[in-house]
Amino acid sequence: MSKLRVYQLAKEFDISSKELINRLVELGITVTNHMSTLEEETIGILKELYGKVEEEPDEKKVTEKKNKKNKDSSEITEHKEQNGDKNMIKIPETIAVQEFSEKIEKNVSQIITKLMGLGVFATANQEIDFDVAATIALEFGIEIEKEEVKEENEFGFDQTPDKLEDLKERPPVITVMGHVDHGKTSLLDAIRDTHVTEREAGGITQHIGASEVELNGKRIVFLDTPGHAAFTSMRARGASITDIAILVVAADDGVMPQTIEAISHAKAANIPIIVALNKIDRPNANPDKVKQELSENGVLIEEWGGDVICAPVSALKGEGIDNLLEMILLVAEILELKANPNKLAFGTVIEAKLDKSRGPVATILIQNGTLKVGDSIAAGAAYGRIRAMINSLGKNIKIAGPATAVEILGLSDVPEAGDSFNATKEDKVARQVVEKRRTKMREENLNATAKVSLEDLFKHI
Ligand code: GDP
Ligand code: MG
Repeated sequence: MSKLRVYQLAKEFDISSKELINRLVELGITVTNHMSTLEEETIGILKELYGKVEEEPDEKKVTEKKNKKNKDSSEITEHKEQNGDKNMIKIPETIAVQEFSEKIEKNVSQIITKLMGLGVFATANQEIDFDVAATIALEFGIEIEKEEVKEENEFGFDQTPDKLEDLKERPPVITVMGHVDHGKTSLLDAIRDTHVTEREAGGITQHIGASEVELNGKRIVFLDTPGHAAFTSMRARGASITDIAILVVAADDGVMPQTIEAISHAKAANIPIIVALNKIDRPNANPDKVKQELSENGVLIEEWGGDVICAPVSALKGEGIDNLLEMILLVAEILELKANPNKLAFGTVIEAKLDKSRGPVATILIQNGTLKVGDSIAAGAAYGRIRAMINSLGKNIKIAGPATAVEILGLSDVPEAGDSFNATKEDKVARQVVEKRRTKMREENLNATAKVSLEDLFKHI
């Protein structure tokens, strides 16, 4: 009898996978993600549940119905934000009773009395939390809303979360990982050879450290940086830039130490794995043995009752590449990756070097926003104005949106891989940010030296 995956069933019910997972959690059924397969019994329960919804229009069910109409539950919030909420009274996280009384146009004494009813004793100047304010407002029959606060990081960059209506689908960013000689480089080459058709004029493709392919009109971004290095250096700085890890395992060799390391990196980063079972052309290829070994190391592929996709490939012969790319797009779709193209860009430096003729060059991954030639930028301890941008095809481009890797020229210095970058409105801001960073780095260095010299002192006593 047929088993279904979470996302398949969600599609059937016309709800989002997220919503279905939430429902499963409520029912006490454990699922790991959208790819999890569901037992027939569970499917039966769910079908009954979602079948009933149509008939019983009590309040909770009505919301569910609404959810059913919207494919994605996020659209509901979007919907809500677009309609009606404009006139709602906005209250900050905490507010003084006096100010609150002015906002909801009620007497301070009335509010204080109601507060006392809740067991809160406050004076006009005292601050109350939003939740308390909301409760009081409701007692007056008034609905209030939390005021959006602009969040800024230590360098003054706006970190306000994007509004749902500004978010657009973005391509997935992929890292290839696996044991040495299992075929990571060959696989990336095969993907490029089969799917990157456009070449730079003159026929030389410049290598910028990332490649992009297109399948069925959808983009996929591959980072060339060996996955392990990317993970260790970048994750150490809290940067997580990949959405999906491709775990390359040679079918004639099986799970090896770096395979295990790669698995633990992906698990720590909480990103889905797709296994590329490589070298299936080899006469001594033994896929079953590999699958068994993977299961012993916590990677349960579909055939083994898990939810990890395993795509057999031969990087050497270019076989199975399309299927692998399709699987990537499938997993990406489930992840619902989104970004806001309508703001200043930020992201991470993938690699950087000093080029004799071109000066400092850096390949950066734009994670959010849009970057343009002429934008000012602060990248790690380097700043500058973007003089030129080169995409993964070696083409000069003027503008690049979210999930694009580009090489940039115009920086004052060479930043480090893993550094974050931010585009700024003015040169001045970029320079100030970098100066602040440099001071901070110097202080940290000084502290480190101070500590060492103290220890040294004690050594001599
Ligand atoms: P990496 O160290 O993981 O980057 O592995 P490479 O891509 O350098 O490949 C290591 C060796 O395996 C090379 O000699 C490749 O030609 C060979 N190789 C890679 N993929 C395949 C494959 O699908 N089939 C066969 N037979 N050999 C492969
Ligand atoms: Mg290699």
